[in-house]
Amino acid sequence: MYYAPFPNKQINIPYLLKIGNGKIKKIGKYLTDKNLNNAVIYWSEGMQALLGDKLYPGLSDNNVSIVHEQDIQFINIEEITKVTFNLPKATDVILGIGGGKALDFAKFSAHLLKIPFVSVPTSTSNDGFCSPNSSLIVNGKRKTVKASIPFGVVVDLDIIKESPQICLYSGIGDMVSKITALYDWKQAAEKKLDRYNDFASLMSYNSLTLLFNKHSTDINAESFQRSLVNSLLTSGIAMEIAGSSRPASGSEHLISHGLDAISKRPRMHGLQVGIATYLCALLQNNPSTSGLRDILTATGFFAYVQQDPLSKEEFIKALQMAPSIKSNFYTILSEKDSFARALQILDQDPILNQLIRY
Ligand SMILES: [Zn+2]
Repeated sequence: MYYAPFPNKQINIPYLLKIGNGKIKKIGKYLTDKNLNNAVIYWSEGMQALLGDKLYPGLSDNNVSIVHEQDIQFINIEEITKVTFNLPKATDVILGIGGGKALDFAKFSAHLLKIPFVSVPTSTSNDGFCSPNSSLIVNGKRKTVKASIPFGVVVDLDIIKESPQICLYSGIGDMVSKITALYDWKQAAEKKLDRYNDFASLMSYNSLTLLFNKHSTDINAESFQRSLVNSLLTSGIAMEIAGSSRPASGSEHLISHGLDAISKRPRMHGLQVGIATYLCALLQNNPSTSGLRDILTATGFFAYVQQDPLSKEEFIKALQMAPSIKSNFYTILSEKDSFARALQILDQDPILNQLIRY
């Protein structure tokens, strides 16, 4: 397959980037500073009751009007389109506040109208809050749909601190996936099966070292959470630069997609991805495997997942379907002997034995 070496593409980055304490109160000021005065707000369920009192005064003090707001429960592409094209004409910015669905909804809605989207994640469960894609329901199936990278990202660390532990562990799992994703990408490029981008790869790699070089692995420490946010955010931008999800998604994500498709009870994205990353690192003989094992142990990720192990039967099914989930997408799982080797590792590795059981 031929890939143009220099794709003619404009790269967007967030123009508004605020990470710190009490940031939600300042959103009104951030918006007027950018001449954005008529906001639509999409909330994750329950978030308006929890955060409205912190957000609203800052908006009114800065003369930002809310022209429409609603809770988001569904992410069907038809529904988003309908809601979006019924928004008031004055709308000049869209805010998504909450977890996955509200952000996916808001990102795609803003993309349709070609107006700025400001992403306000209330947890760090995956890298979606700053990625150029939305995960939506299209014809009844969950699909990754191209959208635009957020114009703004505002992360209030006081809110992140209050988010459930599972979200932090999921964020860690999604973050470490770059270890195996970058390896897969490099191999694919060496086999001339994909285009490589040195800068995106470097960014993605650096975002890993941000967290790996931290002295504290206490996930409740603010400094750790700040690094996790930085790291997830950087990988979103690396995807924008690469023009694909390659810098942050490889074999490990394929296994997680497989689990989403067949599991009776799929776990949170980053938990599945984190487990699969460890397996794929072993398959790849990845040089970072021991570092990966250390961080997943020290942060308590393995111990957390162990409390509710995955079904081995389902995991093997997901592993079997993984290589065919994306077409023209080489990963370690495309190798003929990978499936048999993976089964062997699943049987023999003492950590995986605790995470994936009958
Ligand atoms: Zn992910």
